Amino acid sequence: MLNEFFPELEIVDVNRRDETYQFICHGKKSCAPCPQCNTVSHRIHSRYIRTLKDERVFGMDVQLRIQARRFFCDEPDCPSSIFTERFPALCRPHSRRTFRLERGLLRLLRGMSAIGLERILNNISDSTLLRMLKRSERHRIMPDPRVIGIDDWAWRKRKKYGTIICDLETRRPIALLPSRDVNTVCAWIRSHPTIQVVARDGSVEFREAIRLADETIQQVSDRWHLFHNLGKKIEDILKQRLPSGEKILLEPDGLNIERELTDAERRKWTLILAVQQDAKQGVPISELVRRHQIDPKTCRRYLKMTEPPRIGRSHRRHSADVYKQDIVRWIRQGRTTVWMHRTLKRKGYARGISTFRPYVARLKKAVPHEININRRIIQKVLWEDEPSNKPLLLKILDIHPFLKELNELIRSFKELFEAATSQQDILRWCGQAERMNETKLSSFATYIRGDLDAIRLGMTLHWSNGMVEGQVNRLKTIKRQMYGRAGLELLRIKILNLT
Ligand SMILES: [Zn+2]
Repeated sequence: MLNEFFPELEIVDVNRRDETYQFICHGKKSCAPCPQCNTVSHRIHSRYIRTLKDERVFGMDVQLRIQARRFFCDEPDCPSSIFTERFPALCRPHSRRTFRLERGLLRLLRGMSAIGLERILNNISDSTLLRMLKRSERHRIMPDPRVIGIDDWAWRKRKKYGTIICDLETRRPIALLPSRDVNTVCAWIRSHPTIQVVARDGSVEFREAIRLADETIQQVSDRWHLFHNLGKKIEDILKQRLPSGEKILLEPDGLNIERELTDAERRKWTLILAVQQDAKQGVPISELVRRHQIDPKTCRRYLKMTEPPRIGRSHRRHSADVYKQDIVRWIRQGRTTVWMHRTLKRKGYARGISTFRPYVARLKKAVPHEININRRIIQKVLWEDEPSNKPLLLKILDIHPFLKELNELIRSFKELFEAATSQQDILRWCGQAERMNETKLSSFATYIRGDLDAIRLGMTLHWSNGMVEGQVNRLKTIKRQMYGRAGLELLRIKILNLT
């Protein structure tokens, strides 16, 4: 079984020494090719012990002790006369670690700093780990990018910025540039002539750099930033015009406080009422049984029933149903679900909050109650067209009529994001925004007019820089992990290689 892990080696023995398994082994083949001239040699010069570290097993270190051989190279023209045998599937020449172990270490380095890993392993230095990392970078091959996303990231906020570039088709970061100025970005794009589409934010530098590099590249103003920017403007407007928080009264939307009967329950309840009706008029049980074709026992049970039956497992009474009157009163008073749950627990209610919450949520739909809202909630409700938020949205628009126009504007903005949108559609939207006489919106409209081509492409093509934004966040985390000692090269390796 071990042979499967060491295809080039013959395991002779396994020893245990303290915390280490030692695998004693030697090369399987009787000959070896010279690394210089490739001539196969059978003539052994001498032997020596080569030790290699492998990945740990069963909590123990693993060491390979290989009886390695030196061979003569008999090729007269070859510069080397003696060479050592190699194990290309196992490790690099001269390496002290197997590929398997290195791959494991690289995987760990994906999530942590070299210094942190050194502290945990305690048997390999951080500079060795970094060397490994840099070497692994050199062997990486990258497909030629066709569609890229580009964004800036802060070395030091407001002081120094770099550029990150992602391949939007493979969804991988492919370059990290030391600055975001026109020349740097332009040079990089020029050196990658396969690029056809670049998604970017509204930055003037990027726009200019792409244009200078290649006029035929399609510039796409990415939709993530468009949404983000409009969202910011709306946030500012709400900040100017709305109180930071307010209470509003939510009316029931016509739902009955009682649970609706299922079809089966309604049919049975009709039958029960009919039986009871007949009984009231003096029909004896024997006759009821015959008339309604039911069992006498069932008939007697029906006569005692005062409320509709519950049929099926999912319609059993809810554990909180006995407290319904209290809960309804509390909802009217504007108590929170958590408060209600805590209070009922003291009264002996045994179930958890996750069982309790949906029950209250259902009742809330039927009981008028006050809720606290703030600007953030208002913005969310305005922005997301959630059917479940409809009653809240209508109420908010009722209290703040000026939001109606804003809500309309957001809706029509979202409608622009589809394949058939024309420049006229976008300009019409700009007009709509400008008519609202909000400086924030007018400036957004001006920005759109100024970058119209790219913005239309951003709306009609599906490329988005959302993933680039994600990589910028990842970069920030990694940068901080590296104790502020991140040089560009190391940062680049960590960002590009280990995804
Ligand atoms: Zn040779």
